[in-house]
Amino acid sequence: MRHRLTHLFSLFIAPLLLAAAVLFILVFELLPGELTHLVDLSIWLFALIGALLTLSYARTRNFFAILFVFGGYQALMLTINQPATQGAAAILQPEMAYNLLSFFLPLFILVNSLWTERFHLLQDLLLRSLVFGLILTITVAVALRFPLQLDQLFTPVHYPSFYLESLGLPQISFFVFLISLVVLFIQLLLNPQPYFAAQWVALTASVLMLPHFAEELIPQLATAMALVMLSLAVLHEAFQMAFRDDLTGLPGRRALNERLQRLGRNYAIAMSDVDKFKNFNDTYGHDLGDQVLKMVAAQLKRVSGGGKAYRYGGEEFTLVFPGKTAEQAKPYLEKLRVAIENYQVKIRDEKSRPDKDKEGKKKRSKTDRDWVSVTISMGIAERGPELGNPEEVIKAADQALYKAKKGGRNQIALAK
Ligand code: GH3
Ligand code: MG
Ligand code: MG
Repeated sequence: MRHRLTHLFSLFIAPLLLAAAVLFILVFELLPGELTHLVDLSIWLFALIGALLTLSYARTRNFFAILFVFGGYQALMLTINQPATQGAAAILQPEMAYNLLSFFLPLFILVNSLWTERFHLLQDLLLRSLVFGLILTITVAVALRFPLQLDQLFTPVHYPSFYLESLGLPQISFFVFLISLVVLFIQLLLNPQPYFAAQWVALTASVLMLPHFAEELIPQLATAMALVMLSLAVLHEAFQMAFRDDLTGLPGRRALNERLQRLGRNYAIAMSDVDKFKNFNDTYGHDLGDQVLKMVAAQLKRVSGGGKAYRYGGEEFTLVFPGKTAEQAKPYLEKLRVAIENYQVKIRDEKSRPDKDKEGKKKRSKTDRDWVSVTISMGIAERGPELGNPEEVIKAADQALYKAKKGGRNQIALAK
């Protein structure tokens, strides 16, 4: 739980720092006058970079979030924040355009976010464009045909006690904004990913800036910031995907290879492997097997003595101890081995209910146990005269692991 919270918080660090920097610039008027026109340019640039990034990673959701923030800003500047003569040339009256924007910006961001990417990239792009485009077209048509009725919807404050007038949003938009914030936050809790955190801050920034459309810099900086956040989130996710193992959350093989490149002269490496894990999967099912792997990973992650754990692949994990000999690393590994041996995993759990898996049920009622545990075996090797590079050390650790298996499992063997 604590780990989950710190992870959640870590997702907000970059967006919040960025937001703080922008607020700082605004409050203390730090931006030199001659640079202000660059902010306008940067919005185009960030939107373009964001669009390219999201598309190249097939992240249609992020792409549309960027589109909405960018489109909202452009609509604000083109139809609303214009001198009266030019504003009159717009299709919609500025007030109406403002009302609709304040309503649809949070609504579209919300719907887009709840709509998961299930289709092929092109299909997904088309479908979303169609749905959101159609809603907008119909709305504008209705707004042109029944401007007074729509005005009735937006202008009055129907429930004065549920309203923050200082935000400057029509009440109905205020509601949509609140609902979006709450729903998206729940989504973030269920699914702690950088994109959802960035989107949450971006949504807040772009809705809060709306009433300040006539002011210098506020809409520009808020929009630029929202676009940067949404783009950074894609990079953050791509980085996680490449270096983190999805199931266990441990750094994966690629991260291990990176680390091996930068080891000093002395280090020890341990290879560990879950004992009789094929058996475990066959008896209790693959889902419980996955849960056990997560538990093993969580224990290994807590390694002390300066070690670091990686998922090597399958049910095999690697622990790297910079600056230590195999003998020095052993006590820390021994602690992990015992912790895992003593850890009891509950069998009867939502995911592995007997009625879900008939085979599991038969076996379970035979053994009739609610808790199970697994053990691991390990092999350690260190860099030395014979083993000059990480690959050789890993190989020796693997041979030691084999020895531990032969010796009866649930034990640690040193390479000779
Ligand atoms: P030993 O004690 O000799 O290591 O026996 P073992 O059965 O663990 O060895 P083996 O390498 O034959 O089996 C590894 C098993 O690990 C095979 C596969 O079903 C299981 N496994 C590998 N990766 C995963 C995974 O991500 N999830 C689950 N549930 N099982 C996995
Ligand atoms: Mg194995
Ligand atoms: Mg095994």
